Amino acid sequence: MRTILHVDMDAFYASVEELDDPSLRGKAVLVGGAFRRGVVAAASYAARKKGARSAMPMAEALRRCPEAIVVPPRRERYAEVSARVFAIFRRYTPLVEGLSLDEAFLDVTESASLFGDGEAIARAIRAAIRAELSLTASAGVASSKFVAKVSSDLEKPDGLVVAPRDPRELAAFLAPLAVDRMWGIGPKTAPRLRELGFKTFGDLAAANVASLALVLGNMAARAKELARGQDDREVVPFGDAKSIGSESTYEHDIHGFEAISRAVLSHAEIVARRLVAEKLRARTVAVKIKLADFTLLSRQASLEEPVCDTQSIHEVGKELMSRFPLQDARVRLVGVAAHGLVEEPHTRPLFPDVERERRVRIERLVGAVNEKHEGAVTRATLLEEHRRRETWVGVAKEDLAKVVTDGEGPQRNDRDRRSRR
Ligand SMILES: [Mg+2]
Repeated sequence: MRTILHVDMDAFYASVEELDDPSLRGKAVLVGGAFRRGVVAAASYAARKKGARSAMPMAEALRRCPEAIVVPPRRERYAEVSARVFAIFRRYTPLVEGLSLDEAFLDVTESASLFGDGEAIARAIRAAIRAELSLTASAGVASSKFVAKVSSDLEKPDGLVVAPRDPRELAAFLAPLAVDRMWGIGPKTAPRLRELGFKTFGDLAAANVASLALVLGNMAARAKELARGQDDREVVPFGDAKSIGSESTYEHDIHGFEAISRAVLSHAEIVARRLVAEKLRARTVAVKIKLADFTLLSRQASLEEPVCDTQSIHEVGKELMSRFPLQDARVRLVGVAAHGLVEEPHTRPLFPDVERERRVRIERLVGAVNEKHEGAVTRATLLEEHRRRETWVGVAKEDLAKVVTDGEGPQRNDRDRRSRR
């Protein structure tokens, strides 16, 4: 049985602003931009008391809390503080999986002999964050990621909750919690669940999957398991916290699986290009989708063989997407990230995967062509709505001839030309 911590900084961005500017301390502070899609990135606890929340449109937050001081986000500063928080996490275990700048899962199962049990480690981490950074964090301690995540939220701010490890005690601990607390269930879904009589984790755990599916679609069975505290996902550390990602927030929501898939493809392409340029490959591919109601869906897959080409990343991305109920979803953000980065192997494998190598070669050639001709090559699927086969089109025809030729492209062309002379 594993011991997993979820540690989450309290109102992180707002707390950093209060730390750096003492005149803000204890006041209603909203961090966020003021543009059309402006949303609250973080709200201080004083602002939350008036009903302002992070992820709320700024206009709505200011309506609820007119006296709030709006501070533009300073992402570099948050990243700097975040790096110090994560350095504290890593004193206790190398198995740290960041969910964002201010929260992470830590698998401390193997750390017990050095640092004590999960609760002792959570106390030590919270004390270090307070002493060294003058910030507070809340923590949940459990035998799974899901329960740790739910627990850390129960006594925020500055809380520590240790969930029972015994399955029956755990089910009893979770049963009375409101469905809104369920990680993965968004603010629009929770009211619909309540309408159907699913008010608590206990209701979900006892539910008939078919009736739960009316609201949760193909996630119903999974939600039922999670509500009982059954979750065997592992903590996946992201190498040295290095990752390559690309995401867009759309001015107008995109709609439908095909449109979302195309967005995933265009981000896969950007990520692949950077992987190739930096001679890296990714062991983990992650997809992030934010629905119009701000529900954040994210999934990642760890791959047996690390990848660095658009097609492989897109394939994994599409697979991950298919696990979300996206049939009628309106989506405001799509992102793709590559984690677990490893260096490109220097030697050829004994049994090379021909198809994979071809994809990598194409990625390199397209990268080179685009560098020369400023983005001349675009995947056909990005241009044409219904074309399924991915082919390459572009204006740099001469270079493309090399790309399209399967396998030994350039050399064969050269040889052909020579023999014709
Ligand atoms: Mg937080």
